Amino acid sequence: MGKISINIASATIELKKYIIGIDLGTTNSLVAYVPNGETTPVLVKINDQNLVPSIVYFNHQSEPLVGINAKSQLVDFPERTIFSVKRLLGKNYAELLNHAKHIGYSIIDDNSDNLVKVEIDGKFYNPIQLSSIILKELKSQAEKTLNVEITQAVITVPAYFNDTQRQATRDAGKLAGLDVLRIINEPTAAALAYGESRPEEIKTILVYDLGGGTFDVSIVQLENGIFEVLSTHGDTYLGGDDIDKGIVDFWLSSVHELSETQKEILRPKWRVEAENAKINLSNDPNTPYVFSTSIEGETTELVLNKSNFDEIIKPLIAKTKVSVIKALKDATLNISDIQEVVLVGGSTKLPHVGTMLREFFPNVPLNNAINPDEVVALGAAIEADILAGNRTDILLLDVTPLSLGIETAGGLMDVIIPRNAKIPTRVAREYTTSLDGQVNLKISVFQGERELVAENRELGTFILKNIPPMPAGFPKIEIQFALNADGMLKVLAKELRSGVEQEIDIQPTYGLTDQQVEEMLMAGLEHAQSDIEIRLLQEAKNEATQIIYTTEKFIQNHSKLLNELEISETLQFVNDLKFALGLTDRHAIQQKIEALNEFTRPFAERIMDIAVSQALKGNNISSL
Ligand code: ADP
Ligand code: MG
Repeated sequence: MGKISINIASATIELKKYIIGIDLGTTNSLVAYVPNGETTPVLVKINDQNLVPSIVYFNHQSEPLVGINAKSQLVDFPERTIFSVKRLLGKNYAELLNHAKHIGYSIIDDNSDNLVKVEIDGKFYNPIQLSSIILKELKSQAEKTLNVEITQAVITVPAYFNDTQRQATRDAGKLAGLDVLRIINEPTAAALAYGESRPEEIKTILVYDLGGGTFDVSIVQLENGIFEVLSTHGDTYLGGDDIDKGIVDFWLSSVHELSETQKEILRPKWRVEAENAKINLSNDPNTPYVFSTSIEGETTELVLNKSNFDEIIKPLIAKTKVSVIKALKDATLNISDIQEVVLVGGSTKLPHVGTMLREFFPNVPLNNAINPDEVVALGAAIEADILAGNRTDILLLDVTPLSLGIETAGGLMDVIIPRNAKIPTRVAREYTTSLDGQVNLKISVFQGERELVAENRELGTFILKNIPPMPAGFPKIEIQFALNADGMLKVLAKELRSGVEQEIDIQPTYGLTDQQVEEMLMAGLEHAQSDIEIRLLQEAKNEATQIIYTTEKFIQNHSKLLNELEISETLQFVNDLKFALGLTDRHAIQQKIEALNEFTRPFAERIMDIAVSQALKGNNISSL
């Protein structure tokens, strides 16, 4: 039998390369992609379904089941069925105390500073592993459906996810065998899905995303095919889950004399009923939801009617409205500037959402033409298509939620990248030394909205070493912040005269919650007035310290050119200034600075003249 030789080099094999978009939701996850040669994204069916419940069940052999098959185990095996993994990402036990009450599985408290783990059958799983189990299932099922190998993905996260949580999501992707090309914000993905068919329009869109576990509102501007997020606000502890919990609590309180133990047993069982009740009343508000349940052998009938339902939902809708107002304020926009409201997330199917938004934005179209459950995944698929190089008509800009800066003299926060700045971005600022011959400079990076770094969150510290000794104020130290599209920060410090440089990648410590991010924003607003006073006082003190330093140095260096009276009087002014420094009156400090300057100006000028003429004769001016 003869052999056939194949010339591999000349054979052209058309390999389909798919980059998928994944909406890794708290409640449901979805996969979408843009088929080759097309521009419209489509969902990838996973076991014939569009939505995969983000739930992992471990059987007694410790094998994981994901999705609908896991969800069906929730009632019988709450202790081995893990839902809302996304809420655990990047959190420690102390932050989840409240959450722990509402779940059937056990969260381990080994050390309150550490990331939580979930324990099942003596085995421990961290949230990154659990998320990767879900992603692995999505990947392998999508490969089955599309019949291609999938190695690259874009994954969406809530706008309020901090760097740690974004990194955790990326790690989960990696563990699942996916190269995560980009992490993008869910509302941005939604806007992308809506903008996709009309890149020629100029529009300001408010994206209202109420899912199972998170609420985000973002204001997105679409212009000539370019998306820009103007502001974001939200609450990662607000969503359909809370309504389900509210309904369960309502039922528990309607049954008399239940012990705490009984309540804990009933909760997971009733959650499923509660969600059914919610969806039924959402679709048909006027038909009360009734179900029978057995408590210790006794059959009880539980009811949820429209007015019970409205009461449970009202506070939740009110909270989202506050976020909408804040997002508008942050973007310095009025209600009339919004041309379209986009609904995202399964919970926006509640009629209460539409009612509130129509009232708040009269005359603005409410857009839910794309299924709110699916719009994020479809947008992620468009981003994937852009990254695959198939689209050149759309650019994607995003913003950073908190200001980033460094500590300067007196513990002041010097913002380098302000909050809501578009990312990716690169900003450089020049600083200098405050002491003669200073060879090291400590650079501490902070995140937050307060004027004093002590009130902000420290991200990292490093030391720029080996600066050649120079007089204070001579070195030109450039500090550059580069924030990439995923919100990761690289800080570079470089002394420009000598070229000495040092850089760090900020790897924030685990533990900052999204709630804290929001609190940091609020604290910045609350303390704005008093913070400014503190800053002005500190700046006056910094100036005074510097002037005392240079004046004392000046007198030391030029004692021969000064008369005794000039020296003693100057020192008296310096002493007055030192005294004022110990007080907290910035006007007094400024007055003393002026007085000192006023007094020393005539002879300082006289000495400078002498110095310059000496320099011209060949003496070195820098020795003065
Ligand atoms: P996530 O983004 O958190 O994964 P989804 O966008 O998939 O969440 O939304 C899931 C939430 O939407 C769940 O709380 C679910 O109960 C709720 N939901 C789905 N359909 C409806 C409906 N018709 N009415 C009210 N809530 C709904
Ligand atoms: Mg969602």
